[in-house]
Amino acid sequence: MHLARFNPVRFAHLPTPLEPLPRLTEALSGSPGGGPMLWIKRDDCTGLAGGGNKTRKLEYLLGDALANDADTLVTQGAVQSNHVRQTAAAAARFGLACEVILEHRTGSDAHDYNRSGNVLLDELLGAKLRTVPAGTDMNQALAELAAEVAERGGTPYVIPGGGSNIIGALGYVECAMELVMQANELGLEIDRIVTATGSAGTHAGLVAGLAMMGADIPVLGIGVRAPKDVQEANVFRLAQDTADLMGYRERVTREMVVADCDYVGEGYGLVDQGVIDALALAARTDAILLDPVYTGKAMKGLIALSRKGAFDGETVVFLHTGGAQGLFGYQTVLEGRL
Ligand SMILES: *Cc1c(COP(=O)(O)O)cnc(C)c1O
Repeated sequence: MHLARFNPVRFAHLPTPLEPLPRLTEALSGSPGGGPMLWIKRDDCTGLAGGGNKTRKLEYLLGDALANDADTLVTQGAVQSNHVRQTAAAAARFGLACEVILEHRTGSDAHDYNRSGNVLLDELLGAKLRTVPAGTDMNQALAELAAEVAERGGTPYVIPGGGSNIIGALGYVECAMELVMQANELGLEIDRIVTATGSAGTHAGLVAGLAMMGADIPVLGIGVRAPKDVQEANVFRLAQDTADLMGYRERVTREMVVADCDYVGEGYGLVDQGVIDALALAARTDAILLDPVYTGKAMKGLIALSRKGAFDGETVVFLHTGGAQGLFGYQTVLEGRL
């Protein structure tokens, strides 16, 4: 677990705060067993052009890109991708070009969805964007774009969607270490961590880091896209491969990977009233700004499970993975429903 060996570059604002959520805890105390005691790990405050969970991954990915003398970061995401925004920001910070393929995954033709929020910030940060239809083979499109950059004489560095490979996941191995250290200093016994889980790097890095430390803290991933079996398989594979990089593959077991994908609703990036209610409750209790695609859905799950008594008596840390910049891409969806 000697992460310096992977030569991350440092630009994130770390450690991120670990804070109690007293008003949200109170709002969810109505279950017969009293509900959970809620804390929040503020990875929305990682500081890179709005911050979010991709920043920690990018510290390791940029380290690798610079070691490989890359001059262009190449990546992909959905139109309102927070990963793309943070990658565009990291490219600017290091004087690299950034070429992006955005997948029109939700099918929304709303002006704010296609032009505001993260898209506006991508352009402000100088990324070159191109958009492809939903269902495009994004890995192939990414390989083609990288070949195009190389043909022009550039040196591309390909970052997969969400920055979720074994190098990016190291950022969440580091987060697991940081969180456990903070909890130890505070005398806080954590019973569970709850996080949104998408391209899997965050969830996998946390599971791998906690397993390698022997911290024995379960992680519940709330899915935002894939069904449970697919999501858990993706997370497990990446968690094992990440631990393997440090020689601890066998410490990650299949039971450590748990995803609840019952809160996806209509699909990736599609917002229902449960998500809107979660956004409003987090904002109106502890003034936490969540996002419509990931943390709003994870909070919708956390609220529903808390009300069902699933976390009674537990100290639960909600990992805030960021994304509030995406709110402005959903203005027309949210207006009048808050
Ligand atoms: C990308 C993202 C996630 C999901 O993280 P993965 O590592 O892709 O699973 C969660 N929340 C926000 C705000 C994100 O942008």
